[in-house]
Amino acid sequence: MDWREFTGAFKDMSFYLAYNTNVDAIVYLTPEKVQALIEEFGADNVRKRIEEYPRQIDEPLDFVARLVHALKTGKPNAVPMFDQSLNNWFDGHFKYDVERIGGQVGIIANILASLDFKRVIAYSPLLGKKQAEMFVDRPNLFYPVVENEMLAFKPPREAYREDDPVKINRIFEFRKGMRFRLGEEEIEVPFSGRFIVSSRPTELRIETRDELRPFLPQIGESVDGIILSGYQGIKRHYPDGKTDDYYIARARRDIELLKKNHDVKVHIEFASIQDKELRKKVVRELFPMADSVGMDEAEIAHVLNVMGYPDLSDRIFNYNRIEDVVLGGKIILDEANLEILQIHTIYYIMYIARSSNPLKEEELRSSLELATVLAATRASLGDITRPEDLAVGEKVPYNERGEYVKLRFEEARKRIRTRGYKIVIIPTRLVKNPVSTVGLGDTISAGAFASYLALLRRKGVL
Ligand code: AMP
Repeated sequence: MDWREFTGAFKDMSFYLAYNTNVDAIVYLTPEKVQALIEEFGADNVRKRIEEYPRQIDEPLDFVARLVHALKTGKPNAVPMFDQSLNNWFDGHFKYDVERIGGQVGIIANILASLDFKRVIAYSPLLGKKQAEMFVDRPNLFYPVVENEMLAFKPPREAYREDDPVKINRIFEFRKGMRFRLGEEEIEVPFSGRFIVSSRPTELRIETRDELRPFLPQIGESVDGIILSGYQGIKRHYPDGKTDDYYIARARRDIELLKKNHDVKVHIEFASIQDKELRKKVVRELFPMADSVGMDEAEIAHVLNVMGYPDLSDRIFNYNRIEDVVLGGKIILDEANLEILQIHTIYYIMYIARSSNPLKEEELRSSLELATVLAATRASLGDITRPEDLAVGEKVPYNERGEYVKLRFEEARKRIRTRGYKIVIIPTRLVKNPVSTVGLGDTISAGAFASYLALLRRKGVL
Protein backbone atom coordinates (compact mmCIF):
# COMPACT_ATOMS: atom_id res chain seq x y z
CA MET A 1 0.00 0.00 0.00
CA ASP A 2 1.17 3.57 -0.59
CA TRP A 3 0.32 6.49 1.67
CA ARG A 4 -2.92 7.25 -0.17
CA GLU A 5 -4.19 3.72 0.36
CA PHE A 6 -3.06 3.72 3.98
CA THR A 7 -4.78 6.99 4.79
CA GLY A 8 -7.89 5.61 3.10
CA ALA A 9 -7.74 2.54 5.36
CA PHE A 10 -7.17 4.72 8.46
CA LYS A 11 -10.62 6.26 8.06
CA ASP A 12 -12.11 2.97 9.30
CA MET A 13 -9.72 2.49 12.21
CA SER A 14 -9.91 3.57 15.86
CA PHE A 15 -7.19 3.86 18.47
CA TYR A 16 -6.89 4.15 22.23
CA LEU A 17 -3.85 5.97 23.60
CA ALA A 18 -2.61 6.29 27.18
CA TYR A 19 -0.93 7.69 29.46
CA ASN A 20 1.17 10.77 28.92
CA THR A 21 0.38 14.27 27.79
CA ASN A 22 2.08 17.47 28.73
CA VAL A 23 2.80 20.94 27.50
CA ASP A 24 6.11 21.35 25.68
CA ALA A 25 7.80 24.71 26.15
CA ILE A 26 10.37 24.91 23.37
CA VAL A 27 13.58 26.93 23.32
CA TYR A 28 15.60 27.21 20.10
CA LEU A 29 19.13 27.27 21.47
CA THR A 30 21.68 29.73 20.15
CA PRO A 31 25.45 29.33 20.57
CA GLU A 32 25.46 32.60 22.55
CA LYS A 33 22.96 31.23 25.04
CA VAL A 34 24.95 28.01 25.52
CA GLN A 35 28.16 29.99 25.91
CA ALA A 36 26.53 32.25 28.49
CA LEU A 37 25.40 29.24 30.54
CA ILE A 38 28.91 27.78 30.48
CA GLU A 39 30.40 31.11 31.56
CA GLU A 40 27.86 31.44 34.35
CA PHE A 41 28.83 28.11 35.91
CA GLY A 42 32.45 27.88 34.77
CA ALA A 43 33.78 25.43 32.17
CA ASP A 44 35.63 23.32 34.77
CA ASN A 45 32.55 22.88 36.91
CA VAL A 46 30.50 21.94 33.87
CA ARG A 47 33.11 19.43 32.75
CA LYS A 48 33.33 17.86 36.20
CA ARG A 49 29.58 17.53 36.40
CA ILE A 50 29.45 15.96 32.93
CA GLU A 51 31.80 13.27 34.20
CA GLU A 52 29.48 12.62 37.14
CA TYR A 53 26.65 12.36 34.59
CA PRO A 54 23.69 13.31 36.81
CA ARG A 55 20.62 11.21 36.00
CA GLN A 56 18.17 13.76 37.27
CA ILE A 57 18.20 17.50 37.54
CA ASP A 58 18.45 18.65 41.14
CA GLU A 59 20.18 21.95 40.50
CA PRO A 60 20.92 24.19 37.49
CA LEU A 61 24.47 22.84 37.03
CA ASP A 62 23.07 19.35 36.48
CA PHE A 63 21.05 20.78 33.65
CA VAL A 64 23.94 22.67 32.07
CA ALA A 65 26.18 19.58 32.24
CA ARG A 66 23.66 17.23 30.64
CA LEU A 67 22.79 19.85 28.03
CA VAL A 68 26.42 20.34 27.02
CA HIS A 69 26.88 16.57 26.91
CA ALA A 70 23.87 16.22 24.61
CA LEU A 71 25.19 19.00 22.35
CA LYS A 72 28.59 17.39 22.17
CA THR A 73 27.27 13.97 21.14
CA GLY A 74 24.29 15.31 19.17
CA LYS A 75 22.19 12.58 20.72
CA PRO A 76 18.65 13.38 21.80
CA ASN A 77 18.09 12.83 25.47
CA ALA A 78 15.59 13.45 28.24
CA VAL A 79 16.37 13.93 31.92
CA PRO A 80 13.75 14.13 34.66
CA MET A 81 13.32 17.02 37.05
CA PHE A 82 11.40 16.27 40.23
CA ASP A 83 12.03 19.44 42.19
CA GLN A 84 9.40 21.87 40.94
CA SER A 85 11.11 24.78 42.69
CA LEU A 86 13.62 24.82 39.80
CA ASN A 87 10.85 26.06 37.50
CA ASN A 88 11.71 29.61 38.51
CA TRP A 89 15.35 29.26 37.51
CA PHE A 90 14.36 28.05 34.06
CA ASP A 91 11.68 30.68 33.59
CA GLY A 92 14.18 33.38 34.56
CA HIS A 93 16.90 32.09 32.20
CA PHE A 94 14.90 31.27 29.08
CA LYS A 95 12.23 32.75 26.92
CA TYR A 96 10.10 30.00 25.40
CA ASP A 97 9.78 30.28 21.62
CA VAL A 98 6.81 27.95 21.24
CA GLU A 99 4.36 26.15 23.49
CA ARG A 100 2.68 23.08 22.08
CA ILE A 101 1.25 19.72 23.02
CA GLY A 102 3.77 17.13 24.17
CA GLY A 103 3.89 13.67 25.63
CA GLN A 104 3.55 10.69 23.34
CA VAL A 105 -0.22 10.53 23.78
CA GLY A 106 -0.63 14.23 23.03
CA ILE A 107 1.59 14.13 19.95
CA ILE A 108 0.18 10.91 18.54
CA ALA A 109 -3.45 11.85 19.29
CA ASN A 110 -3.17 15.06 17.29
CA ILE A 111 -1.49 13.31 14.37
CA LEU A 112 -4.00 10.45 14.18
CA ALA A 113 -6.97 12.78 14.56
CA SER A 114 -5.59 15.01 11.78
CA LEU A 115 -5.12 11.97 9.56
CA ASP A 116 -8.89 11.39 9.84
CA PHE A 117 -8.80 8.14 11.79
CA LYS A 118 -12.33 7.10 12.66
CA ARG A 119 -11.93 7.60 16.36
CA VAL A 120 -8.98 8.53 18.56
CA ILE A 121 -9.46 8.15 22.31
CA ALA A 122 -6.67 9.84 24.23
CA TYR A 123 -6.32 9.30 27.95
CA SER A 124 -4.06 10.87 30.51
CA PRO A 125 -4.71 10.80 34.25
CA LEU A 126 -4.36 14.60 34.41
CA LEU A 127 -6.30 16.90 32.11
CA GLY A 128 -5.96 20.54 33.07
CA LYS A 129 -7.52 23.29 30.97
CA LYS A 130 -4.32 24.44 29.28
CA GLN A 131 -3.54 20.81 28.46
CA ALA A 132 -7.00 20.10 27.04
CA GLU A 133 -6.83 23.16 24.79
CA MET A 134 -3.70 21.87 23.10
CA PHE A 135 -5.49 18.93 21.55
CA VAL A 136 -6.62 19.60 17.99
CA ASP A 137 -10.28 20.53 17.83
CA ARG A 138 -11.53 17.61 15.79
CA PRO A 139 -14.78 15.65 15.93
CA ASN A 140 -12.91 12.28 15.92
CA LEU A 141 -10.81 13.01 19.05
CA PHE A 142 -12.12 12.06 22.49
CA TYR A 143 -11.23 11.84 26.15
CA PRO A 144 -12.93 9.03 28.09
CA VAL A 145 -15.02 10.03 31.12
CA VAL A 146 -17.42 8.27 33.43
CA GLU A 147 -20.82 9.91 33.77
CA ASN A 148 -23.73 8.41 35.69
CA GLU A 149 -21.63 5.27 36.06
CA MET A 150 -21.45 4.94 32.30
CA LEU A 151 -18.55 5.32 29.92
CA ALA A 152 -18.78 8.42 27.75
CA PHE A 153 -16.44 10.04 25.24
CA LYS A 154 -16.08 13.80 25.22
CA PRO A 155 -13.93 16.26 23.31
CA PRO A 156 -10.96 17.10 25.59
CA ARG A 157 -12.07 20.74 25.68
CA GLU A 158 -15.29 19.67 27.38
CA ALA A 159 -13.71 17.06 29.63
CA TYR A 160 -10.95 18.96 31.42
CA ARG A 161 -10.80 19.31 35.20
CA GLU A 162 -10.21 22.81 36.49
CA ASP A 163 -7.95 21.70 39.37
CA ASP A 164 -5.69 19.27 37.52
CA PRO A 165 -2.05 20.47 37.44
CA VAL A 166 -0.37 20.82 34.04
CA LYS A 167 2.96 19.14 33.41
CA ILE A 168 5.35 21.36 31.46
CA ASN A 169 8.41 19.89 29.77
CA ARG A 170 11.16 22.16 28.57
CA ILE A 171 12.66 21.27 25.23
CA PHE A 172 15.95 22.69 24.05
CA GLU A 173 16.26 22.33 20.30
CA PHE A 174 19.73 22.42 18.82
CA ARG A 175 21.05 22.51 15.28
CA LYS A 176 23.86 20.63 13.65
CA GLY A 177 26.95 22.78 13.17
CA MET A 178 26.37 25.04 16.17
CA ARG A 179 29.72 25.93 17.76
CA PHE A 180 30.72 26.99 21.26
CA ARG A 181 33.63 26.62 23.67
CA LEU A 182 33.91 24.56 26.83
CA GLY A 183 37.07 26.10 28.29
CA GLU A 184 39.84 25.10 25.87
CA GLU A 185 37.64 22.71 23.98
CA GLU A 186 35.87 23.80 20.79
CA ILE A 187 32.61 21.92 20.35
CA GLU A 188 30.67 21.56 17.13
CA VAL A 189 27.22 19.97 17.40
CA PRO A 190 27.26 16.87 15.13
CA PHE A 191 23.48 16.40 14.65
CA SER A 192 20.31 18.42 15.01
CA GLY A 193 18.21 17.26 17.92
CA ARG A 194 16.85 18.24 21.28
CA PHE A 195 17.46 17.95 24.97
CA ILE A 196 14.44 17.59 27.22
CA VAL A 197 14.02 18.50 30.85
CA SER A 198 11.02 16.47 31.79
CA SER A 199 9.05 17.74 34.76
CA ARG A 200 7.57 15.22 37.17
CA PRO A 201 4.89 16.81 39.36
CA THR A 202 4.14 14.69 42.44
CA GLU A 203 0.41 14.67 41.69
CA LEU A 204 1.04 12.84 38.45
CA ARG A 205 0.59 9.08 38.63
CA ILE A 206 0.99 7.00 35.48
CA GLU A 207 -2.20 5.00 35.78
CA THR A 208 -5.80 4.68 34.74
CA ARG A 209 -7.89 6.35 37.41
CA ASP A 210 -10.03 3.96 39.44
CA GLU A 211 -13.33 5.24 38.08
CA LEU A 212 -12.33 4.49 34.50
CA ARG A 213 -10.62 1.11 35.04
CA PRO A 214 -13.77 -1.04 35.01
CA PHE A 215 -14.45 0.27 31.50
CA LEU A 216 -11.09 -0.72 29.98
CA PRO A 217 -12.45 -4.01 28.52
CA GLN A 218 -15.18 -2.01 26.79
CA ILE A 219 -12.64 0.48 25.45
CA GLY A 220 -10.33 -2.31 24.26
CA GLU A 221 -13.20 -3.94 22.42
CA SER A 222 -14.12 -0.73 20.62
CA VAL A 223 -10.75 -0.01 19.00
CA ASP A 224 -8.42 -1.56 16.41
CA GLY A 225 -5.21 -0.77 18.21
CA ILE A 226 -3.77 0.58 21.44
CA ILE A 227 -0.62 2.61 21.94
CA LEU A 228 0.72 2.82 25.48
CA SER A 229 3.50 5.11 26.57
CA GLY A 230 4.64 7.25 29.44
CA TYR A 231 6.05 4.60 31.79
CA GLN A 232 9.19 6.74 32.03
CA GLY A 233 7.09 9.00 34.27
CA ILE A 234 6.73 6.36 37.01
CA LYS A 235 8.71 7.20 40.14
CA ARG A 236 10.37 4.74 42.50
CA HIS A 237 8.62 6.13 45.60
CA TYR A 238 5.71 8.40 46.27
CA PRO A 239 5.02 10.47 49.37
CA ASP A 240 1.96 8.30 50.15
CA GLY A 241 4.13 5.16 50.33
CA LYS A 242 3.22 3.75 46.92
CA THR A 243 6.09 2.47 44.80
CA ASP A 244 6.98 1.78 41.20
CA ASP A 245 6.02 -1.87 41.77
CA TYR A 246 2.48 -0.78 42.55
CA TYR A 247 2.22 1.21 39.31
CA ILE A 248 3.88 -1.47 37.18
CA ALA A 249 1.41 -4.05 38.52
CA ARG A 250 -1.43 -1.68 37.71
CA ALA A 251 -0.05 -1.10 34.22
CA ARG A 252 0.02 -4.89 33.65
CA ARG A 253 -3.53 -5.17 34.83
CA ASP A 254 -4.60 -2.33 32.52
CA ILE A 255 -3.29 -4.28 29.52
CA GLU A 256 -5.08 -7.43 30.69
CA LEU A 257 -8.30 -5.47 31.04
CA LEU A 258 -7.93 -3.82 27.62
CA LYS A 259 -7.46 -7.25 26.05
CA LYS A 260 -10.13 -8.96 28.13
CA ASN A 261 -13.05 -8.91 25.69
CA HIS A 262 -11.02 -8.96 22.51
CA ASP A 263 -7.34 -9.62 21.81
CA VAL A 264 -6.65 -6.10 20.59
CA LYS A 265 -3.06 -5.41 19.52
CA VAL A 266 -1.05 -3.34 21.96
CA HIS A 267 2.00 -1.30 21.04
CA ILE A 268 4.30 0.06 23.73
CA GLU A 269 6.23 3.12 22.69
CA PHE A 270 9.37 3.06 24.79
CA ALA A 271 11.15 6.24 25.83
CA SER A 272 14.41 6.61 27.63
CA ILE A 273 14.24 5.74 31.33
CA GLN A 274 17.25 6.96 33.24
CA ASP A 275 16.60 4.87 36.33
CA LYS A 276 17.95 1.41 35.54
CA GLU A 277 15.77 -0.45 38.03
CA LEU A 278 12.61 1.09 36.66
CA ARG A 279 13.78 0.49 33.11
CA LYS A 280 14.35 -3.16 33.95
CA LYS A 281 10.85 -3.50 35.37
CA VAL A 282 9.24 -1.92 32.33
CA VAL A 283 11.24 -4.17 29.99
CA ARG A 284 10.73 -7.39 31.95
CA GLU A 285 7.17 -6.93 33.11
CA LEU A 286 5.45 -4.80 30.52
CA PHE A 287 7.11 -5.63 27.18
CA PRO A 288 5.92 -9.28 27.35
CA MET A 289 2.33 -8.05 27.69
CA ALA A 290 2.57 -6.11 24.41
CA ASP A 291 2.41 -7.28 20.79
CA SER A 292 4.59 -4.55 19.40
CA VAL A 293 7.29 -2.26 20.77
CA GLY A 294 8.96 0.77 19.20
CA MET A 295 12.18 2.51 20.20
CA ASP A 296 15.14 4.46 18.90
CA GLU A 297 18.82 3.51 18.73
CA ALA A 298 19.77 4.91 22.14
CA GLU A 299 16.84 3.11 23.71
CA ILE A 300 17.68 -0.28 22.21
CA ALA A 301 21.08 0.01 23.88
CA HIS A 302 19.43 0.93 27.19
CA VAL A 303 17.01 -1.99 26.95
CA LEU A 304 19.73 -4.54 26.15
CA ASN A 305 21.73 -3.29 29.07
CA VAL A 306 19.03 -4.17 31.58
CA MET A 307 18.25 -7.43 29.78
CA GLY A 308 21.76 -8.55 30.68
CA TYR A 309 23.67 -7.79 27.47
CA PRO A 310 25.99 -4.96 28.55
CA ASP A 311 28.63 -5.59 25.86
CA LEU A 312 26.20 -5.55 22.98
CA SER A 313 24.54 -2.53 24.55
CA ASP A 314 27.84 -0.63 24.72
CA ARG A 315 28.67 -1.56 21.14
CA ILE A 316 25.35 -0.20 19.90
CA PHE A 317 25.71 2.91 21.98
CA ASN A 318 29.21 3.64 20.73
CA TYR A 319 29.30 2.35 17.15
CA ASN A 320 25.69 2.03 16.04
CA ARG A 321 26.45 -0.82 13.65
CA ILE A 322 23.50 -2.37 11.86
CA GLU A 323 24.50 -5.95 12.64
CA ASP A 324 24.54 -5.18 16.36
CA VAL A 325 21.12 -3.57 16.13
CA VAL A 326 19.78 -6.65 14.30
CA LEU A 327 21.33 -8.92 16.91
CA GLY A 328 19.92 -6.83 19.75
CA GLY A 329 16.54 -6.59 18.09
CA LYS A 330 16.29 -10.38 17.78
CA ILE A 331 17.12 -10.74 21.45
CA ILE A 332 14.44 -8.25 22.51
CA LEU A 333 11.83 -9.82 20.21
CA ASP A 334 12.51 -13.27 21.65
CA GLU A 335 12.96 -12.43 25.30
CA ALA A 336 9.82 -10.28 25.42
CA ASN A 337 7.97 -12.64 23.07
CA LEU A 338 6.83 -9.79 20.84
CA GLU A 339 5.06 -10.10 17.53
CA ILE A 340 7.01 -7.22 16.06
CA LEU A 341 9.73 -4.79 17.10
CA GLN A 342 10.31 -1.48 15.34
CA ILE A 343 13.57 0.42 15.69
CA HIS A 344 14.03 3.88 14.27
CA THR A 345 17.40 5.53 13.91
CA ILE A 346 18.48 8.66 12.17
CA TYR A 347 19.39 6.84 8.93
CA TYR A 348 17.04 3.87 8.84
CA ILE A 349 13.94 2.23 10.30
CA MET A 350 13.80 -1.49 10.91
CA TYR A 351 11.19 -4.13 11.67
CA ILE A 352 12.09 -7.40 13.28
CA ALA A 353 9.39 -10.06 13.36
CA ARG A 354 9.23 -13.84 13.16
CA SER A 355 9.16 -15.57 9.80
CA SER A 356 5.65 -16.73 10.70
CA ASN A 357 4.43 -13.13 10.62
CA PRO A 358 1.44 -12.98 8.23
CA LEU A 359 2.81 -9.97 6.36
CA LYS A 360 5.28 -10.28 3.51
CA GLU A 361 8.60 -8.45 3.70
CA GLU A 362 7.40 -6.11 1.00
CA GLU A 363 4.30 -5.26 3.02
CA LEU A 364 6.37 -4.65 6.13
CA ARG A 365 8.56 -2.31 4.11
CA SER A 366 5.51 -0.40 2.90
CA SER A 367 4.51 0.13 6.53
CA LEU A 368 7.95 1.57 7.34
CA GLU A 369 7.70 3.70 4.24
CA LEU A 370 4.45 5.20 5.52
CA ALA A 371 6.21 5.88 8.82
CA THR A 372 9.09 7.78 7.27
CA VAL A 373 6.82 9.74 4.91
CA LEU A 374 4.79 10.75 7.97
CA ALA A 375 7.90 11.84 9.91
CA ALA A 376 9.31 13.73 6.92
CA THR A 377 5.96 15.51 6.57
CA ARG A 378 6.00 16.56 10.19
CA ALA A 379 9.66 17.60 10.01
CA SER A 380 8.88 19.73 6.92
CA LEU A 381 5.65 21.33 8.07
CA GLY A 382 5.92 21.28 11.87
CA ASP A 383 2.39 19.92 12.07
CA ILE A 384 0.34 17.50 10.03
CA THR A 385 -3.14 18.88 9.52
CA ARG A 386 -4.70 16.56 6.90
CA PRO A 387 -3.94 13.29 5.11
CA GLU A 388 -3.03 15.10 1.87
CA ASP A 389 -0.09 16.73 3.68
CA LEU A 390 1.75 13.43 3.24
CA ALA A 391 2.44 14.39 -0.37
CA VAL A 392 5.05 16.75 1.15
CA GLY A 393 6.86 13.94 2.98
CA GLU A 394 6.77 11.73 -0.07
CA LYS A 395 8.86 14.30 -1.95
CA VAL A 396 11.61 14.31 0.67
CA PRO A 397 14.48 12.15 -0.66
CA TYR A 398 15.99 9.26 1.29
CA ASN A 399 19.02 10.37 3.28
CA GLU A 400 22.36 10.35 1.50
CA ARG A 401 23.52 7.29 3.41
CA GLY A 402 20.46 5.33 2.32
CA GLU A 403 22.21 3.13 -0.24
CA TYR A 404 25.13 2.51 2.09
CA VAL A 405 22.72 1.53 4.87
CA LYS A 406 21.00 -1.00 2.61
CA LEU A 407 24.35 -2.44 1.61
CA ARG A 408 25.47 -2.78 5.21
CA PHE A 409 22.19 -4.44 6.04
CA GLU A 410 22.61 -7.03 3.28
CA GLU A 411 26.15 -7.73 4.54
CA ALA A 412 24.89 -8.06 8.09
CA ARG A 413 22.23 -10.53 6.97
CA LYS A 414 24.94 -12.81 5.60
CA ARG A 415 26.99 -12.67 8.75
CA ILE A 416 24.39 -13.26 11.42
CA ARG A 417 21.66 -15.83 11.70
CA THR A 418 18.43 -14.36 10.47
CA ARG A 419 16.66 -17.65 9.77
CA GLY A 420 13.37 -17.77 11.56
CA TYR A 421 12.98 -13.99 11.35
CA LYS A 422 11.62 -11.42 8.99
CA ILE A 423 13.83 -8.38 9.15
CA VAL A 424 13.27 -5.42 6.90
CA ILE A 425 14.84 -2.01 6.73
CA ILE A 426 14.27 1.22 4.85
CA PRO A 427 16.35 4.39 4.79
CA THR A 428 14.75 7.45 6.39
CA ARG A 429 13.60 10.47 4.44
CA LEU A 430 15.52 13.17 6.27
CA VAL A 431 14.46 16.80 6.11
CA LYS A 432 17.54 19.06 5.91
CA ASN A 433 16.18 21.91 8.01
CA PRO A 434 13.37 20.43 10.07
CA VAL A 435 10.86 22.87 11.57
CA SER A 436 11.17 20.76 14.72
CA THR A 437 12.51 17.33 15.66
CA VAL A 438 10.23 16.93 18.67
CA GLY A 439 7.96 13.94 18.40
CA LEU A 440 9.42 12.57 15.18
CA GLY A 441 10.17 9.21 16.79
CA ASP A 442 6.62 9.01 18.14
CA THR A 443 5.36 9.95 14.68
CA ILE A 444 7.35 7.12 13.12
CA SER A 445 6.09 4.61 15.67
CA ALA A 446 2.47 5.66 15.39
CA GLY A 447 2.68 5.55 11.59
CA ALA A 448 4.40 2.18 11.61
CA PHE A 449 2.00 0.52 14.06
CA ALA A 450 -1.16 1.96 12.47
CA SER A 451 -0.07 0.93 8.98
CA TYR A 452 0.99 -2.51 10.25
CA LEU A 453 -2.53 -3.00 11.62
CA ALA A 454 -4.06 -1.68 8.39
CA LEU A 455 -2.13 -4.36 6.49
CA LEU A 456 -3.23 -7.08 8.91
CA ARG A 457 -6.82 -5.94 8.50
CA ARG A 458 -6.54 -6.07 4.73
CA LYS A 459 -5.30 -9.65 5.04
CA GLY A 460 -8.25 -10.43 7.25
CA VAL A 461 -6.03 -11.51 10.16
CA LEU A 462 -7.17 -8.77 12.50
P1 AMP B 1 13.37 9.74 18.57
O1 AMP B 1 14.81 9.72 18.92
O2 AMP B 1 12.60 8.57 19.12
O3 AMP B 1 12.66 11.04 18.79
O4 AMP B 1 13.31 9.54 16.96
C1 AMP B 1 13.83 10.46 16.09
C2 AMP B 1 13.68 9.90 14.69
O5 AMP B 1 13.10 10.88 13.85
C3 AMP B 1 15.00 9.54 14.06
O6 AMP B 1 15.34 8.22 14.36
C4 AMP B 1 14.74 9.74 12.56
O7 AMP B 1 14.27 8.54 11.99
C5 AMP B 1 13.65 10.78 12.55
N1 AMP B 1 14.20 12.09 12.20
C6 AMP B 1 15.11 12.80 12.90
N2 AMP B 1 15.43 13.96 12.28
C7 AMP B 1 14.68 13.99 11.15
C8 AMP B 1 14.54 14.92 10.08
N3 AMP B 1 15.25 16.04 10.03
N4 AMP B 1 13.68 14.61 9.08
C9 AMP B 1 12.96 13.47 9.11
N5 AMP B 1 13.05 12.55 10.10
C10 AMP B 1 13.90 12.80 11.11
